[in-house]
Formats: sequence, C-alpha cells, structure tokens
Amino acid sequence: MNEFTLYYQPKIEAATGKLSGFEGLMRWIHPKQGLVPPLDFIPIAESTGVIIALEEWALEAACRQLKAWHDAGRMYQLALNLSARHFLSDGVVEKLAQIVKETGVCPNYLTFEITESVGMENQQHVIERFIAFREQGFSISIDDFGTGFSAFVYLKHYPIHEIKIDRQFIQVTDNDTTGNVIVQSIIELARGLGLKTVCEGIETTDQRDTLRSLGCDEMQGYLFSRPLSIDELEMWIEEYDTSKKESLR
Ligand code: C2E
Ligand code: CA
Ligand code: CA
Repeated sequence: MNEFTLYYQPKIEAATGKLSGFEGLMRWIHPKQGLVPPLDFIPIAESTGVIIALEEWALEAACRQLKAWHDAGRMYQLALNLSARHFLSDGVVEKLAQIVKETGVCPNYLTFEITESVGMENQQHVIERFIAFREQGFSISIDDFGTGFSAFVYLKHYPIHEIKIDRQFIQVTDNDTTGNVIVQSIIELARGLGLKTVCEGIETTDQRDTLRSLGCDEMQGYLFSRPLSIDELEMWIEEYDTSKKESLR
C-alpha cells in the first residue's frame, strides 16, 4: 500500500464558517507516472475487487490521523468514500468497526459516503446494512446526490444521516434561478426528513453566499481548498484558523 496516500479536503460549517472536518480522497503515487487521480484507478480497483483492501487501508490511515488530532483536542469529523462493492460485501461492518476500534477513534466522528449505485430501490438488505452501520455509530451520506437514480421516496425509508448535493447543481446556481430552485428544493426536502445537507464543488464566493442563504449545513470546494496532502493541510488549517483566510469564511 505504500504507493497510495490520502489527501484531505476541508469541510466548512455553513452557518459559522468554522472548519468542521475533512473528506479523505485517495491518490496513487505511481513510481513512473507520479500522482494518479482516483478516477483513473478506482473503477479498475472496483472491478477487480482490490478496492476493498484499498479502502480498509484508507480507513486505518485516516483514523490514525484523526486520533492524533483528537488527542490534541482538535475534534474534527472525517468522511471517507465507500464503493458499492465494498459496502455490499460480507462482513464489511464488523471489519470496518474493528479497524476503527484498533485505532481508538470514536465511530461517531466518521461518515461513509456512498453513491446511489448501491441500488436504493427498496432493497431490504441495503436497509439492513444501513442500520448495521448506524448501530456501530457510523454516519452514512449519499454522495453525488441527484446524479443517479434519485427516487426521493427512498430517502424516507433509509436510515441515513446526510446527503451530499452534487457539484453540477451547485455550479448552476450562478445567475440561474431555476438552478437555485432545484438546490433549494433538495435542501428543504432533506431538512423535512431530518437529514443534513452538504454542498460540494463550491468554487466562488457567490456560490458560497447563495448556498448559505438557501440553508445548506456544510460546504466543500476549491473556494476553501483543494484536497491537500497532510503537510499542506496543516499549513492550510493554521492559516484558516488564524483568520489569514478571513475572506473565505
Ligand atoms: P467525490 O467523492 O465526489 O469527491 C469529490 C471530487 O471533486 C474530488 O475529486 C475533489 O477533488 C473534487 N472537487 C472538490 N471540490 C471541487 C470543486 O470546487 N470543483 C471541482 N471541479 N471539483 C472539486 P478527486 O479527489 O479526483 O476524486 C474523484 C472521485 O474519486 C471521488 O469523487 C470519489 O468518487 C472517488 N474516490 C476517491 N477516493 C475514493 C475512495 O477511497 N473510495 C472510493 N470508492 N472512491 C474514491
Ligand atoms: Ca465523496
Ligand atoms: Ca461527490
């Protein structure tokens, strides 16, 4: 696993501008090609099944980092992507819970982001799996919300915590009232169901201001920061916390 590394992208609490935590995003440091983006290797890792070992490695690495922050009194939240194949695999909940336990991190600080490709159409075993994750103290977020199957009705039945509104909806908010109506409806729907909303792909202060006024809970995007290596991230956090980046808040 030493060719792989995790990058971290900050997540910001919309109402306060406070740093709430991070999403961990995998990178492959290829000996010849250098940094390979996930979209170039995750699909292959998924089709071969290697994704399971990779995501277990990512969870352990992320939890060790999270534990160090928590021990220092920095109580960040952490979100990790979980492929459909891994989510649906046998024994996944027990295995992930065991990894987390060994690192000493409290599971309440962890969210797994899952796309609608797990097959949301009223499948009892998917519901049972969500419940098992919740029983371990983990949160579940529906990633890229709005891009897939998106039958809103499933949200009512599924014990999930959060939806992450895809950036294609965020980026139409500029000068586009129809775009705003869609995002606003998703946020209101989520709120009505007691779900948190995260807006990703925020690149401009106008988008930030619009989404904040529409009531999204958390924000993420290049405006605040790109995904960073851990060293870059520590520098970013220091600047953000000491208000050197006041204009971003
Ligand atoms: P994702 O989970 O939807 O992650 C968000 C992607 O959007 C990231 O790309 C991030 O760098 C990018 N992004 C963030 N803010 C902005 C923005 O403001 N503008 C634009 N244009 N893009 C933004 P990245 O890191 O290349 O990851 C791509 C995808 O790879 C992820 O999409 C996720 O589906 C997948 N991925 C990454 N790590 C893992 C993993 O451990 N497991 C699985 N199953 N998938 C992963
Ligand atoms: Ca994600
Ligand atoms: Ca996403």
